[in-house]
Amino acid sequence: MCFAMHCVGTAVIAAKATPDQERRFLRPIAEGRHVTTLALSEPGTGSHFYLPRSTFDPDGESYVVNGKKSFITNGGHADSYVLSAVAPGSELDPGTFTCLLVEAGSAGLDWGAPWSGLGMRGNSSRAAGLNRISVPKANLLGEEGDQIWYIFEVVAPYFLTAMAGVYIGIGQAALDLSVAHISGHKFSHTTARLAENPAIVEQIADMWARLERARRLLHYAARLGDAGSPEAATAIFASKIDVADAAVALTNSAMQLVGGRGYQADGQLSRLLRDAQAAHVMSPTTHLLKSWLGRSVLGLPPL
Ligand SMILES: Cc1cc2nc3c(=O)[nH]c(=O)nc-3n(C[C@H](O)[C@H](O)[C@H](O)COP(=O)(O)OP(=O)(O)OC[C@H]3O[C@@H](n4cnc5c(N)ncnc54)[C@H](O)[C@@H]3O)c2cc1C
Repeated sequence: MCFAMHCVGTAVIAAKATPDQERRFLRPIAEGRHVTTLALSEPGTGSHFYLPRSTFDPDGESYVVNGKKSFITNGGHADSYVLSAVAPGSELDPGTFTCLLVEAGSAGLDWGAPWSGLGMRGNSSRAAGLNRISVPKANLLGEEGDQIWYIFEVVAPYFLTAMAGVYIGIGQAALDLSVAHISGHKFSHTTARLAENPAIVEQIADMWARLERARRLLHYAARLGDAGSPEAATAIFASKIDVADAAVALTNSAMQLVGGRGYQADGQLSRLLRDAQAAHVMSPTTHLLKSWLGRSVLGLPPL
């Protein structure tokens, strides 16, 4: 189960929850009885997760939802899904999508086979078909068509800082494994210690500095976010880009420093190496974030 995605989904529900949604969703979440998640990505929209093609049609007191979703973290395990869709005809109007809360077990929520990722296996991602799912209008989040607000005010700050924290943890674990291996290593043919080899010492120094730079940028960005600073989004975009690079660099370095034992297929380091690779491709992807960051520095809207 991925709790980062549960927390982001919860933040989206909480941002504009009605009293009824508070009672039915937020209270059980607060009591630890309900897990939620985001179902935004679709096979056709790729990285542009804010341009869904799934549709919702009003039908009395309900909406009828049709479409396809991909990579739903916690898919098939969560109790509810924050699902994006557009009103038929408004597909080409960027950023006017709507989010609805779809409850687990809804008729027409048809799960695909579990996705077998290279890493991040704990998050259990799956695709789903949305086949005439009936969703009560009471499950509409915010207003119809206002969801681009959620992307930049809720999803991006929560998800990017949560993901950045995960990848700082991966980088820290890579450094810890390297230090443990190097410190404990004794050759049988000489009294020289690996920990005193200048090339190794320098590589450990570079790893420490790389990790701390990324950590400090994340803490700075999170502080701006907490303070509601207008600079927060820029710093948060930059932090996630930087942390992704750091996690990949640190796990690669560790793979070199820990030697053959690190290269073991099911070892801890192989898991860190595989998990780190997801940092660049989990949306907002690094390419997308660089575009948002550059535009934001130039005083342009991110999209
Ligand atoms: C482990 C994991 C968990 C996930 N969990 C969820 C989830 O819970 N909910 C959810 O909704 N989605 C989830 N996703 C989906 C994720 O958001 C998508 O993988 C992401 O949106 C990328 O889409 P794609 O894989 O189709 O890549 P593509 O869109 O095919 O992109 C391929 C590459 O091209 C780059 N690219 C694409 N468009 C542009 C552009 N315009 N400019 C420059 N570069 C571009 C991308 O950055 C990427 O590097 C998850 C993905 C992974 C790997």
